[in-house]
Amino acid sequence: MNSPSPLSTLDERPRRVGIIGGGQLGLMLAESLAHHHALVSILDPDPCAPAARAASPKATGSNTGFVCAHFDDLGALDAFVAAQDVVTYEWESINCEALRLAAARHGTVVLPDVSLLETTRSRLAERQWVQSLALPEKTSCVPFRLASNVAQAQDGKQALGLPLVIKTDRGGYDGKGQWVVTHEAGWNDALGALEPLFGSGARVIMERRLDLLAEMSCVVARSPQGSLTFPVFENTHRNQILHTTDLPCGLDDSMMSLARSVALKCAESAQLHGLLTVEFFYGRESESSQGKLYINEFAPRPHNSGHITRRATSTSQFDILARCLLDLPLAQPQLLPAPPGKRYRMINILGDDMLDAGGRVAFEQAIHQQWQSDLLEYYDYGKAEIRKGRKMGHFIVLTP
Ligand code: ADP
Ligand code: MG
Repeated sequence: MNSPSPLSTLDERPRRVGIIGGGQLGLMLAESLAHHHALVSILDPDPCAPAARAASPKATGSNTGFVCAHFDDLGALDAFVAAQDVVTYEWESINCEALRLAAARHGTVVLPDVSLLETTRSRLAERQWVQSLALPEKTSCVPFRLASNVAQAQDGKQALGLPLVIKTDRGGYDGKGQWVVTHEAGWNDALGALEPLFGSGARVIMERRLDLLAEMSCVVARSPQGSLTFPVFENTHRNQILHTTDLPCGLDDSMMSLARSVALKCAESAQLHGLLTVEFFYGRESESSQGKLYINEFAPRPHNSGHITRRATSTSQFDILARCLLDLPLAQPQLLPAPPGKRYRMINILGDDMLDAGGRVAFEQAIHQQWQSDLLEYYDYGKAEIRKGRKMGHFIVLTP
């Protein structure tokens, strides 16, 4: 007889799934969960959060449906967690200890585990984790130094040399909390920005700025039902914000299978239940050195680059995460065939793009006109306020 499936432990009532964070990642995850027997609740401080419209209807007087509360409102967090069977997060700046305590108090499962979120919220903890893994010889994190005062920053600069990238240990995203120093002249400006940070007790990671040959990401999923990796995506950035993601990736197969095996190894080391995205650099530390695969950072959630899986693979990253959260079987997503000579590309839409085009409607019209039948998806997240640098949507095309 086959061993009993973990599914047999589920009863027939819909599983209550809470998502902390109501941005576009929460919206697309809620849409995927809605295809299964799930009741979706969203916690976000913004009454107009994109995912608010995708939450299940609110039961009167309950902490289900869309719950509008600040992430620092620990009473609201506790009540939200109490009303769920499973909680996940699409926003990482949350109080991990409060989440852990609330989950223990109410018997709610948090996926991925809070300890993984704690690790990935600190660039130092991420690097220490990578260093503790026995990874293949050609992979590592970028050589770095830690600094929590000016003297340590001076030492770091001395040891690493220019050009440097300086990143706050916590709280940075989309290039926020980062300084690039290419010349001596820029060093004093950087110190000027760092001094108040050090004064407030923050610390930074200083790392060599690589000569980047390519950037990639790999989304890995793991649950008691099994594990899988998505094909490796190739990414380009503008002003340190993701601009495009391409599938298939143009790098050679050995590099891609190395990235996939590293991602899987990380997932196993973390005993992952859910999704983990690993961002990679393929680059070199100087023009004379050889290209190497570097692990840049992790996200224990769906990733912006993974939007491409909505059209380019048989199952999307959001469907796979929904399946992990609901203990449903996992199947390896397959790259969908593209017409000869074409590949898939996801392009982020920033507020700047809409403003430059004269508004969101004008921008959407221009994209339709430009791509015609090669436009596979146009997704406007419905954020009311168009701001420069804000991710407003994305589109997916077939491109030569
Ligand atoms: P975040 O995505 O959290 O803002 P990252 O560390 O991923 O922070 O940096 C954002 C982007 O900045 C990267 O995708 C890459 O394009 C560039 N970058 C970051 N660190 C380096 C580095 N050491 N060398 C070269 N480019 C870098
Ligand atoms: Mg990044």
